[in-house]
Amino acid sequence: MISFLNLKEINAQYAEELKQACSRVIDSGWYLMGKELESFESQFASYCGTKCCIGVANGLDALTLTLRAWKELGKLEDGDEVIVQANTYIASILAITVNNLKPVLVEPDEYTFNLSPHLVEKAITAKTKVLLPVHLYGQMSPMPEIMEIAHKHNLLVLEDCAQAHGAKINGKNAGNWGDAGAFSFYPGKNLGALGDAGAVTTNSAELAKAIRSLGNYGSEKKYENIYRGVNSRLDEIQAAMLNVKLPYLDAEIRQRRHISERYLNEITNPLVKLPASKNEDTHVWHLFVVMCANRESLQSYLQKQGIQTLIHYPVPPHKQQAYKGLNSLSLPKTEKIHQEVLSLPLGPTMVESDITAVVNAVNLFNI
Ligand SMILES: *Cc1c(COP(=O)(O)O)cnc(C)c1O
Repeated sequence: MISFLNLKEINAQYAEELKQACSRVIDSGWYLMGKELESFESQFASYCGTKCCIGVANGLDALTLTLRAWKELGKLEDGDEVIVQANTYIASILAITVNNLKPVLVEPDEYTFNLSPHLVEKAITAKTKVLLPVHLYGQMSPMPEIMEIAHKHNLLVLEDCAQAHGAKINGKNAGNWGDAGAFSFYPGKNLGALGDAGAVTTNSAELAKAIRSLGNYGSEKKYENIYRGVNSRLDEIQAAMLNVKLPYLDAEIRQRRHISERYLNEITNPLVKLPASKNEDTHVWHLFVVMCANRESLQSYLQKQGIQTLIHYPVPPHKQQAYKGLNSLSLPKTEKIHQEVLSLPLGPTMVESDITAVVNAVNLFNI
């Protein structure tokens, strides 16, 4: 069986170092807001090229607390509009609505699955305050164009970088283009903890301070609460796991690129549409997503060949029960994407024979 992503194998590569790091934290007697977190925040900020990094409990909180901080700092108010691509994972939308902001769902570019600058401009109204590009599947959104629109209309930009650690445009990292970048270190992400974790990157010390405080009960000084905050902290033990894994991220990205390049060059089945990618640096291949009109038969055929695939995602946010008010929206490109996408196995521990097996199986698929 070729699994979609073998987390056990991925972490086994670093098992000795991970176990030593665990012991270090256990023996330290200090489990929150300590040296491991401090070290991870400074290393991850330097990896992304930003001045600040704030560890939080997960990727959803990274998004939510950034928008919340902008509200507390007087930059946003209830009802302000946030433009986001309609085909994103639901977390991007939840972060908007939990802050009483309004998600404005726009159709993505159908080749890259990302925000299309042209459609973003069309969606801007007097209430638009934030652009929320999601670097979906690991591919950077067209940030130079998005930043130009943001500057022209005086908008804040929050990058959802949960799938794009290490992706770059013109040498500048995901999370360093906008006013803030929200990262997830969910175990299955390209940089994954051994549990939940997340972070915000930013060059604004003011924003960093507000997020840090909001995630710690709204307090900067113990027992003095400036905001009605929440508890969203990145545990020492998870920070220690991330400190072990961050130095290996670039090598894992290279292996992901190698696998994707083989898929792109060798999959030739006309029934399977390959993803479009413009430039190596801009894509870290969190997912290799193909489209197929007979997606269900392709998936069950591959399963029978011993190849596990997943669907990211089967139902778009606007068709979810949680968003009844949006159910009647018509977003045909997004709906087609959700009906046809299938993610092929892609993980840094796949070997050449696994890749060949996937290529051969996909090429032999017939209806
Ligand atoms: C995973 C993910 C999130 C949420 O991250 P969690 O750590 O699971 O909360 C947000 N946005 C996108 C695009 C994601 O893929």
